[in-house]
Amino acid sequence: MKYLDEYRDARAVKNLSRQIHRLTTREWTIMEICGGQTHSILKHGLEELLPAELTIVHGPGCPVCVTPLEMIDKAIAIAQRPEVIFTSFGDMLRVPGSRLDLLAVKAAGGEVRMVYSPLDAVKIAENNPAKKVVFFAIGFETTAPANAMAVLEAKRKQLKNFSILSAQVLVPPAIEAILSSKNSRVQGFLTAGHVCTIMGYNEYIPLADKYKVPMVVTGFEPVDIMEGIYLAVKQLQENRHVVENQYRRVVKQEGNQEARKVMPEVFEVTDRNWRGIGQIPGSGLKLRSAYADFDAELLFKVQSIDTAESSECMAGEVLQGLKKPPDCTLFGKICTPEHPVGAPMVSSEGACAAYFRYRK
Ligand code: SF4
Repeated sequence: MKYLDEYRDARAVKNLSRQIHRLTTREWTIMEICGGQTHSILKHGLEELLPAELTIVHGPGCPVCVTPLEMIDKAIAIAQRPEVIFTSFGDMLRVPGSRLDLLAVKAAGGEVRMVYSPLDAVKIAENNPAKKVVFFAIGFETTAPANAMAVLEAKRKQLKNFSILSAQVLVPPAIEAILSSKNSRVQGFLTAGHVCTIMGYNEYIPLADKYKVPMVVTGFEPVDIMEGIYLAVKQLQENRHVVENQYRRVVKQEGNQEARKVMPEVFEVTDRNWRGIGQIPGSGLKLRSAYADFDAELLFKVQSIDTAESSECMAGEVLQGLKKPPDCTLFGKICTPEHPVGAPMVSSEGACAAYFRYRK
């Protein structure tokens, strides 16, 4: 299949592995930012094909994992209300809140439904005028345009019973938070191809320049990732630090103009808490005041909710590339995909779930 088979070609992967070995003369640490890339690296055993000097760490690119506990607790508080149909992507249903998860709310009689798109939630609102339908809007720049479209569609249809709980986050401020941390050991980045498909990569150019780190826009297949690593190592070895685009077959420098246009119409940038990391200035999206009627946080008055994070879960360190999942004492013993303690073990994109599945 064009654009797929050639990016899963074992000979091409081995060839890139040989080139990376030849190129690498000293220790480097590179972070892949996206959960999809994490899973691809582990699934295909790519780390084993890299020189010992090269360390790959996993970043905060799993949307379920970085959604803060207080947002899960807000979602649960809203979903427990009898007048509400709470809709969400499937992964979020099992993420533990302080005391329970959304599936437990459903088991106790709450109307919690899994949807595949925010527009599905708009349809549910249309078909259930006596109910208040809330969509849990999580994710990065990749999902924000569809969430904005759902709000615009609900407005166009004059629906008074649709709202979203916005926990959306932005990648560049998170990269900046990691790079400006005194504990950071990241020297190069593979940035997420799908986020750059929407946003382009102009935002990364000043970051690469300011922090002197190469950034390679990278896809998700084994050849993509090995080529992204090759380009990042080449820059590091040559003491260069610019943004390069490995994922040229999909990503344009200016991104998707239509998708980028709809986001600022509905959302504005806000400070946002990231699970295990804390508040990152300017790293979230909230509804503009013109769309306050669609803001579930305001409508259900859940702005201030107390949370209790597990003190043993080291998700924050995992998400910042400071630790790897097996470094956690709960990994694979107390914390498993069947009984997750933290979000990185729940999500199909979570680093802990990837290690459990492919490395256990
Ligand atoms: S293994 Fe479980 S407890 Fe440990 S960091 Fe991952 S999610 Fe948290």
